[in-house]
Amino acid sequence: MKIVEQVAEYIRSLVPYEPGKPIEEVEREYGISNSIKLASNENPLGPSPRALAAIGAKMAELHLYPDGDCFYLKRGLARKLGVLPENLIFGNGSNEIIELAVRTFMRAGDEAVMAHQAFVVYNLVVQASGGKARTVALRNYTHDLDAIGAAVTAQTKVVLLANPNNPTGTIYRRDEWERFLGKVSRDVLLLVDEAYFEYVEDGGYPDSLQYHAPERAILTLRTFSKLYGLAGLRIGYGVGPKPVIDMMQRVRQPFNVNAPAQWGALAALDDDEHVRRSLAVNRAGIDYLQKEFARLGLEYVPSSANFILLRVGRGQEVFQKLLRQGVIVRPMGGYQFPEHVRVTVGTMAENQKFIAALENVIRTF
Ligand SMILES: *Cc1c(COP(=O)(O)O)cnc(C)c1O
Repeated sequence: MKIVEQVAEYIRSLVPYEPGKPIEEVEREYGISNSIKLASNENPLGPSPRALAAIGAKMAELHLYPDGDCFYLKRGLARKLGVLPENLIFGNGSNEIIELAVRTFMRAGDEAVMAHQAFVVYNLVVQASGGKARTVALRNYTHDLDAIGAAVTAQTKVVLLANPNNPTGTIYRRDEWERFLGKVSRDVLLLVDEAYFEYVEDGGYPDSLQYHAPERAILTLRTFSKLYGLAGLRIGYGVGPKPVIDMMQRVRQPFNVNAPAQWGALAALDDDEHVRRSLAVNRAGIDYLQKEFARLGLEYVPSSANFILLRVGRGQEVFQKLLRQGVIVRPMGGYQFPEHVRVTVGTMAENQKFIAALENVIRTF
């Protein structure tokens, strides 16, 4: 078809993001039941109960368009973060904010700098808008901020950083970050993706919100998908200087955040009990899994998030064999980690089921 042949080369060469199959479909195919999904870094305790109640109470309003300004959520979150409402923008997941930032601040031919093995969406979004992604190798599974800073050129409009990084679970620390800020031009937008911010316990972690300053374009990204257990609602947000947010508001679709997402997120913000339980389950799970990996003689990357990158040798094969035992993890070939799988921390029962299945698999090697 002529229309298809005319599509830009940078679109034609994109590889579509490969979605996982529905869990019911996997069970039917493999003839298994009661499988557990530890593949997408979702909260194993489920959604915030307060969010569920808030959504349930307002379902009869679904015939109305959502609030295009996220009025109440914006004010609630601004209070909680200690910023002004004008510093906030909401998206259909924080993924949409990544896309809005790239579409707003990059033109075709501009460059974005990012780590080679960071969140795949960064590269996808930059390429889809005709930008050029310059990727910088990780050092010891971690963002190499010195090298990333050195890769910034006069053509660079955006630097994308994930802290903690997905899929490695690693963080860069305050000293490297401050050195990086001292070197990188203020003409560049620094997009700092903190989807796993709430899980970090390391005292050396730099909370990027603390570095927002009038002359520094930092856009901090956070989400309700992970700790708050609302991945299915699709809501995340960006925090940035007013001029940066204003530009992105021009590009945003008027009703990009659906109504239940706004009701649920606002209620989840005050659900301290769900947050406390979620963090405790994650801490216990990380400790348990890392101890079991050591017992099994498996190399892993110590994690600051709610998942662990685990070296198993033949990642794709281990993924398949775990699947047959009803445990779904994420193979990492797409991230150029063919010897690894990434496993999300589950409830303790799920973690134990995963370890038992993993032991069965590696025994056959
Ligand atoms: C999970 C994740 C997100 C969250 O995306 P949403 O669109 O908010 O669900 C963002 N960044 C990274 C690195 C992630 O792993």
